[in-house]
Amino acid sequence: MKIDIITIFPDFFRGPLDFGIIRRSREAGLVEIEVHDLRAFAHDRHKTVDDRPFGGGEGMLLKPEPIFECIETLGVTSRESRLNSSAQEAVVLLSAQGKRFTQETAQELSSMNRIVLICGRYEGVDERVGEHLADRELSIGDYVLSGGELGAAVIVDTVVRLIPGALGNEASSRQESFSSQPQSHTGEAPSSTCASGGLLDYPHYTRPADFRGWAVPEVLASGNHEEIRRWRRRMAIEKTLRNRPDLIDEAVLDDEDKRLLMQVRGSC
Ligand code: SAH
Repeated sequence: MKIDIITIFPDFFRGPLDFGIIRRSREAGLVEIEVHDLRAFAHDRHKTVDDRPFGGGEGMLLKPEPIFECIETLGVTSRESRLNSSAQEAVVLLSAQGKRFTQETAQELSSMNRIVLICGRYEGVDERVGEHLADRELSIGDYVLSGGELGAAVIVDTVVRLIPGALGNEASSRQESFSSQPQSHTGEAPSSTCASGGLLDYPHYTRPADFRGWAVPEVLASGNHEEIRRWRRRMAIEKTLRNRPDLIDEAVLDDEDKRLLMQVRGSC
């Protein structure tokens, strides 16, 4: 996979892309990430990339010409073939007005060959970039950032860890919070996490077994795989109900889950 990031602050990405899974994935050649300085595509003496909004109002906007020119040098496919999915490429405009970026979007992007991320600044970006250049606008949440760079870093992080081979243990990305695959009841030893089926992950504990008087739940030391699996599922349901009740309706729940949900609701 190749990821290009377009920004007026290229140095911002020193750090976020240099640690842990992203660093290892880059070193292993699973992903190539290139950061482009938008000012290199401005032609005047002052390297101007912003201008005042038509119609008046506060602040400045990123001009369309440098962004279009930058992307034209990258050799991405046409917007049409990106929109009709014939090309596994995406040009994303980071925007507070975009569709909400979710784990599902991350999954979709992780199967692409090429992702270009355009970072806005100031009051935003000339609308023609979203209308005629990018094939999607994504928001990382319902709040306003001062620039698209943090959003781009969030997208790179979530997408890269889903590329096959990026995580040491392949199973771990299939089984964490938000992952939509249902849990399996294979009766084998529980892996480090149970598949979430759209629920939040369950609580995890490591040594010491007793920390300042707070003991690890007994069931986890019981060696009874079936009981551990059921306990984890119940805890995932409890935690989701407590912190993100909105996720419950969309979750993939089997009959046992539904019974657990009724028990948990009954005991609240
Ligand atoms: N006037 C805009 C906010 C501009 S903030 C509005 O009210 O919608 C400047 C830039 O930060 C945006 O162009 C965008 O690239 C980025 N940004 C702000 N909030 C964001 C969010 N929630 N998700 C992704 N990018 C965001």
